[in-house]
Amino acid sequence: MDIGGLETVVANSAYVAARGSIDDGAVQNFRDKKMRAKLKLPHITQCEHLKDQIDLDFSSLCLKQPVGQRLFQQFLENTEELKMVGDFWKDMESYNVAETNERLQKAQKLVNKYYDSASKHFCPFLEEKAIMRVKEDCKNGRTELFKESEQLLLKHLEEAAFESYRNSLYFLRFLQFKWLESQPVTEEWFLDFRVLGKGGFGEVWASQMKATGKMYANKRLNKKRLKKRKGYEGAIVEKRILAKVYSRFIVTLAYAYQSKTDLCLVMTIMNGGDLRYHIYNVDEKNPGFEEARACYYTAQIICGLEHLHQYRIIYRDLKPENVLLDDVGHVRISDLGLAMELKDGEEKTKGYAGTPGFMAPELLKGEAYDWSVDYFTLGVTLYEMIAAKGPFRSRGEKVENKEVTRRILSDPVAYSEKFSSDCKALCEGLLVKLPAERLGFKDGECRELRNHPFFQNLNWGRLEAGLMDPPFVPDPKTVYAKDIGDVGAFSTVKGLVLDNKDKEFYDEFATGNVPIPWQEEMIETGIFGELNVWGSKGTVPNDLRH
Ligand code: ADP
Ligand code: MG
Ligand code: MG
Repeated sequence: MDIGGLETVVANSAYVAARGSIDDGAVQNFRDKKMRAKLKLPHITQCEHLKDQIDLDFSSLCLKQPVGQRLFQQFLENTEELKMVGDFWKDMESYNVAETNERLQKAQKLVNKYYDSASKHFCPFLEEKAIMRVKEDCKNGRTELFKESEQLLLKHLEEAAFESYRNSLYFLRFLQFKWLESQPVTEEWFLDFRVLGKGGFGEVWASQMKATGKMYANKRLNKKRLKKRKGYEGAIVEKRILAKVYSRFIVTLAYAYQSKTDLCLVMTIMNGGDLRYHIYNVDEKNPGFEEARACYYTAQIICGLEHLHQYRIIYRDLKPENVLLDDVGHVRISDLGLAMELKDGEEKTKGYAGTPGFMAPELLKGEAYDWSVDYFTLGVTLYEMIAAKGPFRSRGEKVENKEVTRRILSDPVAYSEKFSSDCKALCEGLLVKLPAERLGFKDGECRELRNHPFFQNLNWGRLEAGLMDPPFVPDPKTVYAKDIGDVGAFSTVKGLVLDNKDKEFYDEFATGNVPIPWQEEMIETGIFGELNVWGSKGTVPNDLRH
């Protein structure tokens, strides 16, 4: 075995070992004790000033931020007159994620407990007509019963509990976590395991947050290479957009920091390889996916696109290579380096961006366009999953970009017998050359697409809750990436000086922890539980005592 090969084996086995232990929930064993010890809540006097700096919106504080929600729920649980409402909320949540076959029974229990005016748990804030509707729907065996009640419950909590929460010890505890969250992030918090891939400005590494043990993908952008190749604007756009969106179908940004040489984006690690690899390289004699598998991935991609478009973000670079699988086989959109955000009031944009063979006709013609370009690329991507070739190119064919462009603009697409009629119809609806007639995002959602016959057997609610079993589970012992040697090296950039202006830019980029993912990491790795200690009932913990 050559040195490169050996290096790959060693790196892979350390990486697979760390991954395995994390899957088993034993992250603690892989933590760095010294770094873990640095995650400490400060005394309350050190962080009380944050009260005036954080967003005091109920929804942000008590619903969206995971640590905030936990502490708010703990407050409800431990406050006599709010306990019952808190239980109702938790019961609703457990109903929402229940398996289809358990739902009805759970619903009946909820109705008996909270909707019956004779019950001691009866919730008076529910409106009469909402009660009638839920009881009626429950009788008729409908699911998704409690959406309206949940809104009423949250409104009630905002009115009846929010203010007293903000005067409680639980809110002070929240401020302690916000302080910890706002601490600077440096290189010393991360340990790189192995290269996962190569990007335009540096390598992407499997990297561990030392203090919690959680594995991430760390996309490194070399400062000098960025400057030389004028990549600043693209880098900050990618970072800003990633920090803004939050969806289980798009890679999540958890940290943005800098080292002496690099700007680093720490994101959800996607261990299962990209769709391109799975279409062509896993079973080379029989490339492409069964339709059910293509359907599942397409649905997840649609959820990701819909989220981006709701934020007025055009992705522009959808293709199998940019869709990555995680350990269990769910996919997420990644590489938002070509994405752009339409400003308020702006309907369209212009500009050549994307990958040859995928770009929509209106973009290629230099016309103004909107997110409809992403549904054209979705059509190309779905076509490729089935046919194991692009719609505008034969397999292995070398064609000039000019010719590909000509075909996209004027040639019809041919479908082999591999396509079912529903699948063909969906591809045709997406590959429509006129954007106004293309399937896609309308009135804030992708309803028409979701209701397409191609998805008739798909439970969108369960898919969106992450509860639908994936059609393919990556083998945990396989590293779905090229060997380290094949990834290729970068040459060093010489004769370039970084000045104060550059430094200013790096500081703007390196904003540290991203709140929601950071809080999620604290909860999921058990740190939140370890730090959130209360002592015996009725006493005030030392760190919250003035
Ligand atoms: P660039 O924008 O420079 O092309 P990418 O974001 O596409 O960089 O990342 C380069 C490569 O790194 C990808 O092709 C993929 O192999 C790997 N990679 C990127 N993000 C992740 C991730 N979140 N998890 C695992 N591997 C990743
Ligand atoms: Mg890329
Ligand atoms: Mg990119």
